Amino acid sequence: MKLICIGRNYTEHIKELDNEKPSDPVVFLKPDTSILLKKQPFFIPDFSDDVHYEVEVLVKINKVGKHIAKKFAHKYYDQIGLGIDFTARDLQAQLKAKGLPWEKAKAFDGAAVIGDWLPKSAFENVDAIDFSLHKNETVVQSGNTSLMLWKIDELIEYVSKYFTLKIGDIIFTGTPSGVGKVIANDKLKGYIEDKQLFSITVK
Ligand code: ZN
Repeated sequence: MKLICIGRNYTEHIKELDNEKPSDPVVFLKPDTSILLKKQPFFIPDFSDDVHYEVEVLVKINKVGKHIAKKFAHKYYDQIGLGIDFTARDLQAQLKAKGLPWEKAKAFDGAAVIGDWLPKSAFENVDAIDFSLHKNETVVQSGNTSLMLWKIDELIEYVSKYFTLKIGDIIFTGTPSGVGKVIANDKLKGYIEDKQLFSITVK
């Protein structure tokens, strides 16, 4: 399975990192080895002094598809989740400056947190889902999927032009503003509406 991640999908986050608004979605992949195993702490890797959390709504693919039209995209997923796209921001900045791929900064072991899943049927509208990240009991990020530049069905249409989507693949749909650094002993909890979908400790 693969993790397909979208960058720069919320205007306020584009501004906070001083990035340009893209004309197409920014897409990158994480390997399955980047998934943080359930109940394990997240260990800050020794190659970074500036690892950031990025909370993101997740979509799990349940049907094989290629060149999926937006109007059919809703048939290709039936679960919605929440996760973290951990990013070694210092390393990413160096790679971006050189025009190099980001993988070392985003695809390292443990860099993908995947929380519990909720059935899509639990939501009246997947384009109006509230979500948030709490760090040590303070809300540090909150967003709503209505603020995405490219909505879930548009992302499925777009990424399936390039990659065959397979059962179990997961799309990370991008982070809203409020990203920030983690330090040892931080506790991160992710919520969709009032449901807690993950809780992890940083080491
Ligand atoms: Zn991200």
